[in-house]
Order: sequence, then C-alpha cells, then structure tokens
Amino acid sequence: MLVLAPGSVARILAVPGLAEHGIGFRSVEEAVSLRNHVLTQLDLAASTRDPELRDAALTFVFVGGGYAGTGALAELEDMARYAVRHYQGLKPEDMHWVLVEAGQRILPETEPDVGLRTTEELRGRNIEVRLGTRLISVTDGVVALSDGSRFAARTLVWTAGVRANPVLRATGLPATPRDACAATPACGSSARPGPGRPATRRRCRMSPVRGSTASPTRSTPSARPGCSRTTCSPVCAASRWRSTGTS
Ligand SMILES: Cc1cc2nc3c(=O)[nH]c(=O)nc-3n(C[C@H](O)[C@H](O)[C@H](O)COP(=O)(O)OP(=O)(O)OC[C@H]3O[C@@H](n4cnc5c(N)ncnc54)[C@H](O)[C@@H]3O)c2cc1C
Repeated sequence: MLVLAPGSVARILAVPGLAEHGIGFRSVEEAVSLRNHVLTQLDLAASTRDPELRDAALTFVFVGGGYAGTGALAELEDMARYAVRHYQGLKPEDMHWVLVEAGQRILPETEPDVGLRTTEELRGRNIEVRLGTRLISVTDGVVALSDGSRFAARTLVWTAGVRANPVLRATGLPATPRDACAATPACGSSARPGPGRPATRRRCRMSPVRGSTASPTRSTPSARPGCSRTTCSPVCAASRWRSTGTS
C-alpha cells in the first residue's frame, strides 16, 4: 500500500509587493525568524524619535484567518504584549495588530461558533479582525486593503494562499478544481484509469481537518477540556499553553 499525503504548498498571489515584503509562516525557521522580526520592531519603536516610523514598527498585519494566521497572530501578540513590559516608553496599547480575512469568518476549517468565539476573543484583546477584506498591495511600506484603508506597517505575514501539493497531479487520482484529492464523504475515490492501472474503485483518505470520519492522526494537546479537535481554536491553544507554562 502506498500512502500519499504530501500536504499543501504556499501560494503567492499576484498582489503588488507581496513577494518582496510578505513573511511566510509554515516552517519552524520562518516562525523563529518572525519572532525575531517582531522583537526587532519593538527595539526600533522604542529607540526611534520618528513617530511615523514608530507607528509602522508597531503595526503587525496578518493576511489569512486560517489556523496558521490566527495562531501566529495570537501567539505573537501575546509574546509582544509580555515583551513590551521591558521597554521604556512602550505600552501594549501602542501596538496595532490586524487580522485580514477575505471570507466572512475566520477558522473556516472549524465549526462556525469556533470562528465567532475566536473573533470575539481576539477583539477583546484589542486585535482588529477585518472580515470580507482582501490585501490589495503592500508597497513602500504601506498596506492597502480592499475596504479602502491604507496604513504603514513594517510587518506583513502572509498565510492566505495554500494549495494542494503539485505532486498530486502526477498521481492521476480524481482531483478537485483546486488540485486536491477528490473524495466522497465516505472517503472513497474512483481513480481514473492510468498507465498500467485498471479502472477499479480505490480508497482515498482525507485529512481529519477537512471533516473525514477517519481518526485524527495528530492529537491537539492544546485543547481545553471538553474541546474536540475540530472545535478547538488556536486562541484556546494559546491560553492553555500559557496556563500550563509549556513553551
Ligand atoms: C503554522 C500552522 C499552524 C497550524 N495550526 C493548526 C492547528 O492548530 N490545528 C490544526 O488542526 N491544523 C493546523 N494547521 C494545519 C495543519 O498543520 C495541516 O492541516 C496538517 O498538517 C495537514 O496534514 P498533512 O499530513 O495533510 O500535511 P503536512 O503536515 O504538510 O505533511 C506533509 C508531509 O509530506 C512531506 N512531503 C511533501 N512532498 C513530498 C514528497 N514528494 N515526498 C515525500 N514527502 C513529501 C512534507 O515534507 C510534509 O512533511 C496549521 C498549519 C500551519 C502551517
């Protein structure tokens, strides 16, 4: 048996300035680099006398309200709020954290109430959540959004575009319009006949995150008691890590 589960790859859309200024968040290396970048912005804001530069350094924009964007923003904002206590002249209220999501809710992989609850929790932390909004450009240090707003920001994290790993194309398995493996609700898949392969019915297992009935392959240690894997949010995860002191 061959198990084929190559995951997804990042997709850079044709947004002016994105390829040059967008910061990704998929690997551990990118996470470490982003953490260092945020701390550098605090250093800069604390040391400059230029109010515009200070505002731009303290403005952090995340595009994409999926697991990666929401989790990264929640964790980094938490870290930065803690860190500013060590900077003279910086207060948590000076920071401007923005989550930009094109859809009408964040965390679309989860049940609707999880997205709503997470949005409320983020807004309660003074984080702006802009739904139904797209990034238009990020040029000359200015972020432009589809709601008409424009503001200076030195941090733009891009977690919006993922697509199925292109290697799937070579398998000949039925694909969705976005090149993911197409599967029935029962995780069955009729493979197209290919070279040396009869047109028999084959099994295709979907990711648990996408709603398969298959058992989760990775537990979510961060879930609150009572949370299931599909109903726990990254913000919930952040609270649990803080309360247990796990890093
Ligand atoms: C920052 C971040 C935070 C997230 N947070 C959450 C969360 O809190 N909760 C949640 O449920 N989901 C979360 N997700 C999403 C979750 O990680 C993915 O949905 C899940 O990892 C998908 O699992 P997968 O096995 O399909 O793919 P992956 O985990 O991407 O695994 C695919 C593997 O295949 C390997 N591979 C690729 N091509 C080949 C090849 N040709 N040959 C051999 N190996 C190959 C890759 O190196 C990789 O190791 C998050 C994702 C990110 C990026």
